[in-house]
Amino acid sequence: MSIFSKIANGEIPSYKCAENEEFYAFLDINPLVKGHTLVIPRREVDYIFDMEDSELARFEVFAKQVAIAIKAAFPCVKVGQAVLGLEVPHAHIHLVPMQSEKDMNFANPKLSLSTEEMQAIASKIYQEFTKA
Ligand code: 5GP
Repeated sequence: MSIFSKIANGEIPSYKCAENEEFYAFLDINPLVKGHTLVIPRREVDYIFDMEDSELARFEVFAKQVAIAIKAAFPCVKVGQAVLGLEVPHAHIHLVPMQSEKDMNFANPKLSLSTEEMQAIASKIYQEFTKA
């Protein structure tokens, strides 16, 4: 089972931002900026473009709903989206609230935030997500 499957089923703790029956969103443990979130399918699949069309479409719509919640919680110019998947072999979309293009540079140093800060960020996004 992938580390992200264990996160989605609660075996490994995470800072939950949003969920439904099919998808789960949680804070990236090494955030580029406050609010950097990962969105995953609960179903284990490595490569995003191996997903069947309708599942991929539902995945993107879920990511859109999470992005709207992120933008409400952390005002930004836009929420950027990136798919890399070079480190963890479980499909995931990075959602990053951007003030400028520089915020999407994955070579940037990552933020080091306390447990309390991470929890507060996730709760803010979750509240916005559940408002909708
Ligand atoms: P990628 O596979 O997209 O290249 O990178 C994987 C991303 O997942 C990285 O940004 C990394 O910080 C994040 N990540 C890796 N392991 C964990 C984990 O156990 N928990 C969380 N929340 N994020 C993780």
